[in-house]
Amino acid sequence: MADKYDVIVVGGGPAGYVAAIRCAQLGLTTACIDQWVNKQGKPALGGTCLNVGCIPSKSLLESSHWFSRAQDGLAAHGVAVSGIKLDLATMMARKDRVIRELTQGIEQLFRANKVTWIQGHGELQAGKRVKVKAAGSKRARTVSADNIILAPGSSPVQLDHVALQGDIVVDSTGALEFQDVPKRLGIIGAGVIGLELGSVWRRLGAETVTLLEAQDSFLPIADEQVAREALRTFTRQGLDIQLNSRVTTCEIGKKSLQLHYENESGEHTAQFDKLIVAVGRRPNTNGLSADEASLLFDEWGFIHVDDQCRTNLPAVYAVGDAVRGPMLAHKGAEEGVMVAELIAGHAASVNYGTVPSVIYTIPEVAWVGETEQALRASGVAFNSGVFPFAASGKARSLGETGGFIKVLADASTDRILGVHMIGPHCAELISEAVIAMELGGSAEDIALTMFAHPTLSESLHEAALAVHGRPIHMAARKKT
Ligand code: FAD
Ligand code: NAD
Repeated sequence: MADKYDVIVVGGGPAGYVAAIRCAQLGLTTACIDQWVNKQGKPALGGTCLNVGCIPSKSLLESSHWFSRAQDGLAAHGVAVSGIKLDLATMMARKDRVIRELTQGIEQLFRANKVTWIQGHGELQAGKRVKVKAAGSKRARTVSADNIILAPGSSPVQLDHVALQGDIVVDSTGALEFQDVPKRLGIIGAGVIGLELGSVWRRLGAETVTLLEAQDSFLPIADEQVAREALRTFTRQGLDIQLNSRVTTCEIGKKSLQLHYENESGEHTAQFDKLIVAVGRRPNTNGLSADEASLLFDEWGFIHVDDQCRTNLPAVYAVGDAVRGPMLAHKGAEEGVMVAELIAGHAASVNYGTVPSVIYTIPEVAWVGETEQALRASGVAFNSGVFPFAASGKARSLGETGGFIKVLADASTDRILGVHMIGPHCAELISEAVIAMELGGSAEDIALTMFAHPTLSESLHEAALAVHGRPIHMAARKKT
C-alpha cells in the first residue's frame, strides 16, 4: 500500500520547500522528495539556491568585498591598514558554514511544520503517484497524493566543445570551490553568474578576468542606460568583457588551458589558469516523469504550465526554475506559495510584472518592471525621472557616488511602469519600488511620500520627483 499524502512536492529548493511549508501551514499532510546530496555526501535541503547558488555566491561576494575594501577602500576614510592577507581557506569555510546553517534551518522548519522529508529521486507516475528511489539503492517505493507539485529546478548548461575538467574548466558550482585564486581567469558568458563570480575572483586578486560573451549587447535584459553604466564600471574594475565572442576550441593542459575564440576583430587565442562556463541553466526534467504520466513539456524541456502553474495533468502543478519565467529563487518561492493556496481552495496569483532582478556586483544593479527600450518598442508613452547617487548626501557619506535611480511612469496615468537602479545597496532599495508597483502606485505617490534623511532611499524619492521635473537636489530640466 502506497504512503498517501494530501500533497507531495518533488524538489526541495526555494520553490519546493516553500511550497511544502505553506501547504503544511494550511493543514495539508505534505511530503517533500528531494535528491540533493551535498559535497560531504549527505542529503541536504535548499536545492541549488542554498547549496551552490544564491547563498554561497553572496557569501563569497560579501567576503571578497571586505577584502577589497580593506585593501583600497579604507584610506579615504582615514583608516590606515597594512599587511592585509587573504586567508582563502577561512573564507571558504565561512561560506560552507553559512550553507550548513541555512540548509539545516530548512530541516528544522520541516520538522516544526511536520513536512515529511523523503530523500531520493522522484519520478511522476500516472494517477498522482511518485516512484522514489534513494541514492545508491536499487529498490523503489511508491507514494501518492491528491495533489503533486513538481519543483525539480535547473542545472548549468554545458557546452559540447568546452567540457568541464576537474578544477580547471568548471561550472558555477566549481567556481565557488577554487582552492587558490586563479591568476588568469576566463569566463564564458557575461550574464549574472559570470559577472558575480568574475567580481569575486577579481577582488580576491585574479590579475585578469576575461568574459567572453556571445551576444553583441551587454546585459540586454537590463535597461540600456543601466547596462551602459554597468559595463563602464565593471570594465574600470578590471573585468575584460568581450562581446560578440564565440569560443571555438579549448585545449586543456595540466594546470592551465588555451582557448580559441573569434569575434569581430578576428581569431584569438587566450591562456587561462581556470575557466568558468556560465552560459545559462536548463530545467531538471530528464527522468522526472514516466512516459505513462503524459506530462507535457515545451521544446526546451520546461514543464508546460498556465499562469497559475497548473500542468496539463489534473492536480499536478509545477513551479520554479523548471517552468517559464526568470530563473530566480523568489519567483519560484512565490509560485510555491500560490500553488499551496490554490490547493487549499484559496484564490491566489503571482504578479509576474513585479519580479525584481538583482545583480550583486558592486555597484549593485537592480530593476523591476519594464525597461525604457521595451516601452519604446511597444509604443507606450512614458515619463522618465533619473536621480544620480552623486547628488545624494548619504551616498557621499558612504563614498559610493556612482550610479543612479530611474523611474518610468505612464505618461497619461502616471502609474509606475518600471524602476531601474545601479549603485549602493540597490538590492535592498529595489523592494521599495516593488511595493509601490505592487500597490499600483504612481510616481506622484512616491513623490508625496516622506523619506528619512539622510538615506539612499531619498534617491528613489528624488527620481520620482524628477518624473515631473521637480527634483529638489538636482537642477530640473522642466518645471511643473
Ligand atoms: P532548485 O533550487 O534547483 O532546487 C531543485 C531541487 O530539486 C534540487 O534539490 C534538486 O536536486 C531536486 N530535484 C530535481 N529533480 C528531482 C527529482 N526528480 N526528484 C527529487 N529531487 C529532485 N536566484 C536568486 O533569486 N538570487 C540569487 O542571488 C541567485 N544567485 C544564484 C547564484 C548561482 C551561482 C546560481 C547557480 C543560481 C543563483 N540563483 C539566484 C538562481 C536560484 O538558485 C534558482 O532560481 C533557484 O534555486 C530555483 O529554485 P528551484 O526550487 O526551482 O530549484
Ligand atoms: P544568464 O542567462 O544570466 O547569462 C548567460 C550568458 O551567457 C548570456 O549573456 C548568454 O548570451 C551567454 N552565452 C550563452 N551561450 C554562450 C556561448 N556559447 N558563448 C558565450 N556566451 C554565451 O545565465 P547565468 O549567468 O548562467 O545564470 C543562470 C541563471 O541563474 C540566470 O537565469 C539567473 O537568473 C540565475 N542567477 C541569478 C542571480 C541573481 O539573481 N543575482 C545570480 C546568479 C544566477
